[in-house]
Amino acid sequence: MSTAHVLGFPRIGAHRELKFALEAYWRAGMTPAAEHDLIETGRALRLANWRAQRDAGLDYVTVGDFAFYDHVLSTLALVGGPPQRFGFAAHELTLAQYFALARGNADQPAMEMTKWFDTNYHYLVPEYSPATTFGDGVNWLFDEVAEAQAAGHRVKVALVGPLTLLWLGKARDGLADRLALLPSLLAAYRRVLERLAEQGVEWVQMDEPLFALDLPPAWLAAAREAYATLALESTGGAEGTEGRGQTPRLLLATCFGDVSEHAGLLTSLPVDGLHIDLVRAPAQLDAFVRAWPAGKVLSCGIVDGRNVWRNDLDASFARLAAVHEARGEALWVGTSCSLLHVPVDLASETKLDPELRDWLAFATQKAREVAVLATALQRGPATVAAEFEASRAAAQARRTSTRIHNPLVKRRAEALTDNDAHRTSPYAQRAAAQRARFGLPLLPTTTIGSFPQTPAIRAARAAYREGRLGHLDYLEAMREHIRFAVGKQIGYGLDVLVHGEAERNDMVEYFGELLWGFAITDHGWVQSYGSRCVKPPLIYGDVYAPEPMTVGWAAFAQSLTDKPVKGMLTGPVTMLQWSFVRDDQPRAQTALQIALALRLETQALEGAGIGMIQIDEPALREGLPLKAREHADYLAWAVRAFKVASSGVADDTQIHTHMCYSEFGDILPAIAALDADVISIETTRSNMELLDAFETFNYPNEIGPSVYDIHSPRVPDTNEMAGLIERALRRIPAERLWVNPDCGLKTRDWDQVDPALRAMVEAAKRVRKALGEARKIARPSMTDKGGCHAKQGKAAIA
Ligand code: GLN
Ligand code: ZN
Repeated sequence: MSTAHVLGFPRIGAHRELKFALEAYWRAGMTPAAEHDLIETGRALRLANWRAQRDAGLDYVTVGDFAFYDHVLSTLALVGGPPQRFGFAAHELTLAQYFALARGNADQPAMEMTKWFDTNYHYLVPEYSPATTFGDGVNWLFDEVAEAQAAGHRVKVALVGPLTLLWLGKARDGLADRLALLPSLLAAYRRVLERLAEQGVEWVQMDEPLFALDLPPAWLAAAREAYATLALESTGGAEGTEGRGQTPRLLLATCFGDVSEHAGLLTSLPVDGLHIDLVRAPAQLDAFVRAWPAGKVLSCGIVDGRNVWRNDLDASFARLAAVHEARGEALWVGTSCSLLHVPVDLASETKLDPELRDWLAFATQKAREVAVLATALQRGPATVAAEFEASRAAAQARRTSTRIHNPLVKRRAEALTDNDAHRTSPYAQRAAAQRARFGLPLLPTTTIGSFPQTPAIRAARAAYREGRLGHLDYLEAMREHIRFAVGKQIGYGLDVLVHGEAERNDMVEYFGELLWGFAITDHGWVQSYGSRCVKPPLIYGDVYAPEPMTVGWAAFAQSLTDKPVKGMLTGPVTMLQWSFVRDDQPRAQTALQIALALRLETQALEGAGIGMIQIDEPALREGLPLKAREHADYLAWAVRAFKVASSGVADDTQIHTHMCYSEFGDILPAIAALDADVISIETTRSNMELLDAFETFNYPNEIGPSVYDIHSPRVPDTNEMAGLIERALRRIPAERLWVNPDCGLKTRDWDQVDPALRAMVEAAKRVRKALGEARKIARPSMTDKGGCHAKQGKAAIA
């Protein structure tokens, strides 16, 4: 016997049933009738997911991976630890209260949200204070276990482990050390384990992805304490005795990286099994085959839970066969991590090119791959020969397909020299050329790219996509929107304009549709947070742009005005980060291919008279590896990709970049190394805290720290924005300071954008004027040196 399991299954539904049920429930005002519908949808999804796992041939179905909003929040609810500021009674938390935690209510803002390790899934951040206690929480998990058992399934429960739950939380109200809460939290987990034991659950998978991080020693010590406490027999009973009252066996599940540096610690923990990720960190298998006790379960995550490629069963079998020989049934076969991060079922993709489709596996198919591997280990590959043959054929085709391999792209990538990764002249020289060309005022005003995506814009795009609107009518409709957006910007008095991105559904998908080597699925949705899903494009082959992708729109916008219009591109790292990426070459190489396509695009834009080009890299920070020792390598190739994309233009073409969604304080040197002429960067949400980093780090080029938070419908006024500009001037000299919002405006309405941008332009003018007057008095020189101007700016304002 070799046990087959997955670490978790997507909960959103093959057709996003959970999304639609949630949104209907919220729209209906969370009434009891609507709640009933939502609960029924949840039940149906769980039953369908378990059935899919059983039909695939898995030995256990996973219970506990379902959540109405987020699995971290659901775990908090289970152990009675939701944030106390809401004043809810933890042990009788209602579904409506659960959603209030997730989404906020009249009295309290929502819990914060941030990325789950290095994925694009966002969890709700636990809030811990000295007063936090844990204890009995909701019964949902136990009900779900009963539900699965009633449907005849063999149940393995998956829970976010106590260390990870603490690690991911934020300490507030003077809590010095989250670990101080560990004893109370462990007591709550023990109670959960006892109740699961009473229900007859054999195995509990404790998800502890934190082991893939760089952990402080105190947390490693805490791991010993935690698992020693959890593994204690609860009601006596010798090792191995059957029956109730004993805690379930514990499978400690790691994922997202190499945990072999902790092999000694992990091996010493009194758990019954360990799961390791062999997709992210294949080499750690050897370490654990040596270190992990022979009698304990070793679960090998060999089917990729983070990507959509079909498993190469021959290769996986070859890797596991030797382990199986030595360990027999103590070898489990699994997915590398939960399947939360991949779409549900490839069967929904009826329109995808059949050759490409054949290379893919979504969650349902991956569950089957796991089962096939376990069967092959147990009874020989001949018993599942057809599935091995199909996998072999797909792997063979991927190695040679002309859809994937484009000699021209490979030649271009090889021909790149270091010169291609640098602008011709240093920034100061470029800045002079650009000043001469554009003649912008001090504190130039601009926006980040998109303007409101109105229902009319969406309708036009949908009609075109579905063939109800012809090419020419579509072109004219989009041009009308561009005309409108340009007219608006002229009216606000902005200095640098944009075309508004009406033609783009999404900043990555738009390019994915036009680039060779990319494919777009119809239903490849994965949960981003709550009811929100994303549909990442697939990068399956060498990336090549057969023709310019943005020039027509940008050039049209430029034809409407004498002010400069910025061309708008999505950067190579962001395209990579927000797509499913090919696994047959390093990510760095794929990034470079995208960069080459973008380089040609910048040159085409330049040739069409577009003098400023913005290359957005909002995802640069989130691509940073979990382990510090891998940061330098990532940043080196990521920066190089950006520079290859942006360095093919003349000195007087101004390259902009934009970043948001992350805290950038720790990668400022890499951001400076991009050598963009101008960066617009999100700072409003932290109230310009990021700027403090510029106290020590002297950002060399031009920068627009944001003065308008577009994530809120609130319209900031002139005073507020002028105040933020003045704050920025204390760190950044006026010659290098821009004024802009913190992101694109596509989610806003025009009636919010109108007053906000008018006020922003007004604020810039006001500060400009004060600066001008102060300078008349101080008669400053016009050099580009930072420090002295920063002080003058400050003096002018103070
Ligand atoms: N240019 C894009 C926009 O304005 C940038 C979006 C982003 O940073 N996420 O929408
Ligand atoms: Zn942004």
